[in-house]
Amino acid sequence: MVSIYSHSNVQIPKLKAPPMTVAFIDLAAQQARLRENLDAAISQVLDQGQYIMGPQVRLLEKQLAEFCGARHCLTCANGTDALQLALMALGIKAGDAVFVPSFTFAATAEVVPFLNATPVFVDCLPDTFNMDPESLKRAIIQAKSVGLRPACVIPVDLFGLPAGYDALLAIAHENDMKLIGDSAQGFGGIYKGKTTGSIADITTTSFFPAKPLGCYGDGGALFTDDEELARLIDSYRVHGKGTHKYYNERIGMNSRLDTLQAAILIEKLAVYGDEIEKRQAVASRYNAGLSNRFETPYVPDGLKSVWAQYTLKTASSAERETLQQRAKDAGIPTVIYYPVPLHMQNAYNAFPVDPTGLAVSEDLAQRVISLPMHPYLEPETQERIVAAVAG
Ligand SMILES: *Cc1c(COP(=O)(O)O)cnc(C)c1O
Repeated sequence: MVSIYSHSNVQIPKLKAPPMTVAFIDLAAQQARLRENLDAAISQVLDQGQYIMGPQVRLLEKQLAEFCGARHCLTCANGTDALQLALMALGIKAGDAVFVPSFTFAATAEVVPFLNATPVFVDCLPDTFNMDPESLKRAIIQAKSVGLRPACVIPVDLFGLPAGYDALLAIAHENDMKLIGDSAQGFGGIYKGKTTGSIADITTTSFFPAKPLGCYGDGGALFTDDEELARLIDSYRVHGKGTHKYYNERIGMNSRLDTLQAAILIEKLAVYGDEIEKRQAVASRYNAGLSNRFETPYVPDGLKSVWAQYTLKTASSAERETLQQRAKDAGIPTVIYYPVPLHMQNAYNAFPVDPTGLAVSEDLAQRVISLPMHPYLEPETQERIVAAVAG
């Protein structure tokens, strides 16, 4: 065949089939597994017509509480509202210091200034990426020195790994503070025999679609063993209602989980335990393929992650860039959670921090990278990912 370029020395690039793209989180695989049940559950809600606070909402709350061993579960509109409702139930107000990690999603800190309280940023540990108890102690002293009242600690179960609750709860309670576990990424994780949701004074979670237990829209929930807190949360999520819907005891919010999302979550919760095991298998295969090349995730004895993310620590930001490009060339998506710690963001850089600085958070932001992670990731696909990432 005569090429139109045959008269010149132009090199025609060989046409390579583009690499098959891998999903970062494959929600379609899960949907295929559950589709029939989901269709039936959705149809049932449409037939019933109770779109707000229908019977599926209460049923889901009962099942979620049983799943984690909490006495009370209250669903709400999203994980951010869950955090705000928790702070409202605890009476957090102006002059209060709320201790939050800097290496997290913004929602953890965002709700604090909303209630006119002050977020105080705490560093994390270099191995688990979760809140550092020693940094928390320094931040408490700092908060007091600027005239704030230590009121609440919000550790995050980052990337699905439960925070170091024993030490953090001890420090919180010694200082007359309550502890809210932000388990948006970690619901169902195990900490020394307890499931997240039954460990902190209040636990919050999110059902955003990409979270380990996600719905098909926005959703969230709170867990507590405390009867009075549960009553307050129930009131705050429906306009501060009293014993009757149109008696208002306090200034509240409109933050409910739709009946449709509850019906979907009931079906997803039924396979969630199995999915957590599948996530564990995926993480183990990554560990086997990558631990001789990168710092792979550290899970302390007695803890079980639900693997919201599988996050590697590279040696340098330059190595991370190379890795990300190699993966991209092979059709493999990677994401950097999180590129800028909150205390360095324009919105948050004026708030107090651990006075010795947040060196670990700043370092992690330069070096971490998350790989595709979901329960239905096939071993063959993982081999491709490992080969591309290891280079
Ligand atoms: C996703 C997330 C939230 C917020 O949940 P939404 O449902 O998106 O409002 C809060 N904290 C952490 C750590 C999260 O990852």
